[in-house]
Amino acid sequence: PDFESLGLDPRLRQALIQEKFTKPTLVQAKAIPLALEGKDILARAKTGSGKTAAYVLPILQAILQHKSVDPYLKATTGLILVPTRELAEQVQKVVTSFSSFCGKDIRSVNLTQKVSDAVQRSMLADFPDLIVSTPTRVLANVNNSALSLEKLTHLVIDEADLVLSYGYDEDINALSKAIPRGVQTFLMSATLTSEVDTLKSLFCRSPVVLKL
Ligand code: AMP
Repeated sequence: PDFESLGLDPRLRQALIQEKFTKPTLVQAKAIPLALEGKDILARAKTGSGKTAAYVLPILQAILQHKSVDPYLKATTGLILVPTRELAEQVQKVVTSFSSFCGKDIRSVNLTQKVSDAVQRSMLADFPDLIVSTPTRVLANVNNSALSLEKLTHLVIDEADLVLSYGYDEDINALSKAIPRGVQTFLMSATLTSEVDTLKSLFCRSPVVLKL
C-alpha cells in the first residue's frame, strides 16, 4: 500500500510530502491500518525500520478525530513512553514535524527536558494532547496532580524491552493503575523478551503481534 490508501487526514498527508516520505516502510504498512482499526499492537521493530512514524501517525490521526468531534477538547489523550531523554527528543521531533500542518489541534510536549517541577507543571497546565516522556517523569506529575491520565485513549511504549530493563518496573506498575482500562496500546520492541510479555499483560487486551 501507499500512504494515500491508508486513510490518513490530509494534514498528515501534507506533512508526509513535506518530510519526503513517499512509500511506507514495512512496519508502517502493517501497523498503520491495524492501528486505525483500533487494534492493540505488539511490534518487533528495530530502530531504522520506521517504527516511530508507525505509531506517531495513528496517534496524531486519533487526536485530529477527537478535535473534529470537540474542537475545544482540552485533555491529554496520547502518551508515548520511552526509556531515555535522548529518545524522547527524537520522538518529539517526529511528532512536531508530522503535526506541522495541524496548528493548535495538536499540542504536544516532551516532558523529559531538564526543567524544574514548576516548569513541568506549567507545560501541563494547558492539557497538551500528546505527551512524550520517560515513565518516571509522567508518574511524578501524576502523583503531584499536575497531570491527569483519565482521558487517555492511546498509549505507546517504545523500546519496550529497554523500558523495564532500565529499572522502570515500579513506575510502570504505578502508571498502569493511573491509565484507564481499554486504552489502545502499541508496544514497540527490538526483541520480544519476558519483559515485553510483562508489559503486554499489564497494558494490552489481545494485541496483534507483528514480527518484522
Ligand atoms: P525510525 O526507525 O522510526 O527511527 O526511522 C528511521 C529513519 O527512517 C528516520 O530518519 C525516518 O525519518 C526515516 N523514515 C521512516 N519512515 C520513512 C518513510 N516511509 N520514507 C522515508 N523515510 C522514512
